[in-house]
Amino acid sequence: MKNSPPQKKAPSPAELSNPYGLLCYDQLPEWRKDNPYIYTQYRPISHSYKACLKSLFYLHNQTGNIYSHLLFFFPVLALIIHNSLALAGVRTLSIQPRSDDVLAFSAFFAGAAMCMSFSTAYHTFMSHSEYVASRGKLLDFAGITCLIWGSMMPTLYYAFNCETDVMKKYMVTFSTFGVMALLYFLSPLASNPTAQKMVIPLFVIFAASGILPLAHGVQLYGWDRMDELVGLKYVLLHGAIYAASLGPFLTKFPECWLPGKCDMWFSSHQIFHVAIVLAASVHFLGLIKAFQFQHAHTQMLICPLLNTWKGDVLHVL
Ligand SMILES: [Zn+2]
Repeated sequence: MKNSPPQKKAPSPAELSNPYGLLCYDQLPEWRKDNPYIYTQYRPISHSYKACLKSLFYLHNQTGNIYSHLLFFFPVLALIIHNSLALAGVRTLSIQPRSDDVLAFSAFFAGAAMCMSFSTAYHTFMSHSEYVASRGKLLDFAGITCLIWGSMMPTLYYAFNCETDVMKKYMVTFSTFGVMALLYFLSPLASNPTAQKMVIPLFVIFAASGILPLAHGVQLYGWDRMDELVGLKYVLLHGAIYAASLGPFLTKFPECWLPGKCDMWFSSHQIFHVAIVLAASVHFLGLIKAFQFQHAHTQMLICPLLNTWKGDVLHVL
């Protein structure tokens, strides 16, 4: 007698409503439990990069975190290509940038691209395994370090390009801090949960130390002149957006008020991601303003002009 082929079992109503096997918080392994106010929509731990990549095509509670940075990566990439053309001497703007302008903007674009790509990779592959999630988290921190460094370099360039010794000192100091932070994130020490509690204070100190050169610039040239030189209002707004986003990030607001209601959208981490994109965009507008101002004067004229401004400030004091 011929055996009949095995009949495929019909999916249960629960399987039909949850085809990707998304989990609740209580079903997660201990290492994956980091936000008790997000109740549902967790991807299962897959131990598969392919499964993690497939999760880009359905909704789960990391979709917002992934796409908020993945979608921003593409305009940054377009600007990198545009910048590379300018560096190669291809005329793409009505104002032809100097090679120093292009390098200054390159630092910003590189920092933004690393932050967006590392963050996207972390949130995509965090459901692979504990090891991949923990290494990815450190990569994410490294990306934020790159973005802070990349934001500071062009601002220092436009603030002090007529005070080259001062500019070099600030650039070397910030780059040293940045490299030290990166080495820390690559070291075994950073995997320690206690050491990870130091990450946010470290970022705050690193970013806040950017106020010192700005204050130095205001002391040299005055507030209005510094605003023209570096787009100071934009730079400060960019810092204020970062500072404001730390509140939701640290307190897990709004989901701590609305447990289970922000599982898919509007969670504190998504707000933090959108704030990073917004702050980087505002900073970019400030850099454009600085670029346009400095090219409204030739390099020959801007330095004597700055010396006049310094004289004005001393006169007022
Ligand atoms: Zn993130």
